[in-house]
Amino acid sequence: MELIMLSHNCSVCSGVNRRNLIRLAGISVFASTVFNHSQAAAISSPKRREDESYMRLALEEAKKGDFPFGAVIVRNGKVVAAGHNTGIKSNDPTAHGEIVAIHDFLSRNASSELKGATIYTTGEPCPMCMGAIIWCGFGRMVYGASIKQLSTRIGQIMITSSSIADAAQENKIEITGGVLGSEALDLFK
Ligand SMILES: [Zn+2]
Repeated sequence: MELIMLSHNCSVCSGVNRRNLIRLAGISVFASTVFNHSQAAAISSPKRREDESYMRLALEEAKKGDFPFGAVIVRNGKVVAAGHNTGIKSNDPTAHGEIVAIHDFLSRNASSELKGATIYTTGEPCPMCMGAIIWCGFGRMVYGASIKQLSTRIGQIMITSSSIADAAQENKIEITGGVLGSEALDLFK
């Protein structure tokens, strides 16, 4: 129980008396008490006027992919990187559109310049890509088709991007879903 407190140092937990902890029936009860007061790290963000035009660029990228997934990175109103799935061509199952776009950006820029940037991706990021998006410090992620929708066309790991973001309490990220989602899904026909 102390370990949980140490790994989750905040004003609410620091006020929890050790004797009260012992009174609790079990760690699971304590854990749910501790973690439920935390603010979620995924911030639901409304769709913005410019979102569709950037998503159209991501859709064009997706059309070039081994699997139809594409992504673009936008910083200060400019598209600064793009990528599409090259999983077959590059013999790399991790070459998802988002990862390829991030590597495209990093080939020319410092990683610190990704902080606060926005990534547009035609499909809701898988756990691998969402983890990378969080580690890079993106400020906003906008996706087209949801994982649930994509799972009707292609195998998916059924964990939502907001679940991953919520598990990363120190990294806040705005998430907007459903931008041109049906067009992204139609690429699988
Ligand atoms: Zn992915």
